[in-house]
Amino acid sequence: MKKLLIVIPCYNEEEVLPSTLNTMSKLLNKMIDDKLVSPDSRVHYVDDGSHDKTWEVLVKECNKNQLFEASKLSRNFGHQGAILAGMYDNDADLYCTIDADLQDDPNCIIEMVKKINEGNDVVYGVRKRRDSDTFFKRFTAQAFYKIMSWLGVKVIYNHADFRMMTKRTVEQLKQFPERNLFLRAVVPLVGFKSDMVYYDRTPRLAGETKYPLKKMLAFAWNGISSFSIVPLRLVTLMGFLISFLGACFILRILINYSSHGSVSGWASTVTLITVFSGVQLISLGIIGEYIAKIFVEVKQRPLYIVEEKVKK
Ligand code: UDP
Ligand code: MG
Repeated sequence: MKKLLIVIPCYNEEEVLPSTLNTMSKLLNKMIDDKLVSPDSRVHYVDDGSHDKTWEVLVKECNKNQLFEASKLSRNFGHQGAILAGMYDNDADLYCTIDADLQDDPNCIIEMVKKINEGNDVVYGVRKRRDSDTFFKRFTAQAFYKIMSWLGVKVIYNHADFRMMTKRTVEQLKQFPERNLFLRAVVPLVGFKSDMVYYDRTPRLAGETKYPLKKMLAFAWNGISSFSIVPLRLVTLMGFLISFLGACFILRILINYSSHGSVSGWASTVTLITVFSGVQLISLGIIGEYIAKIFVEVKQRPLYIVEEKVKK
């Protein structure tokens, strides 16, 4: 039997934690009773620098329930950092990551273990429907997956960060040293045998989303720019296109000049200048984004810092 570690990132989740703790305790107890995982399996909560009572609640519950353990990060490192802290800093045979709001069906974890036992190294949780999400969230998420696939990035459609991985997969993940780690695109790059489980995404039990639009857009752009150089190619393409248009324009002016001896007026000049400067600024901006990325990568700053731990 394998030791399972269920990693749950928590950022200001005091409202949702009581029900999550309850559900996870029941689930893991059942899995241990059914001899699906070893009795030393644990649920590991990672407090990602919360400002509310999340850590106090976790410490109290960990002292009561022997299946629970927790670590506290020194500040807010973001969802991906919290997940990595949970996986890299704690030993187990199987790692499962799931959000604290249990929007992803925790009962799938049972099926995930079974799929691992069938010989898979990675099991992705995939959302069948998103009825519970707002239209806006659904639309933006769908657009994101579409754009990613246009740009040639392999991500699993409707899979977020609910997945199970074997120890050797997590060991291989450590070989990806990037700071802008976008797990859902990196895990498929490891390449081990994988399978999927499907579930319906339910509404958040309590509290508010920790991913407001601004964070969501930043996350999406990070995913795109970490995995695709197509935006840079588009800049070059745009350059060629505009140069061609420019050449056509010069030709027209020359023809005009020879036919009635006058040059076109200022309107066309102004139009050209604005269009060209716009395109140049956009191009510089895109190139700048990638340079900024290199800047962040070369610094090799830590992805997380664990400040405190509650463990048996
Ligand atoms: N989260 C985190 N750090 C952050 C933001 C979010 O650890 O900076 C956690 C959060 O507590 C939750 C998970 O990431 O467990 C997903 O966040 P949320 O459910 O708010 O995102 P949504 O489902 O709305 O996209
Ligand atoms: Mg959520």
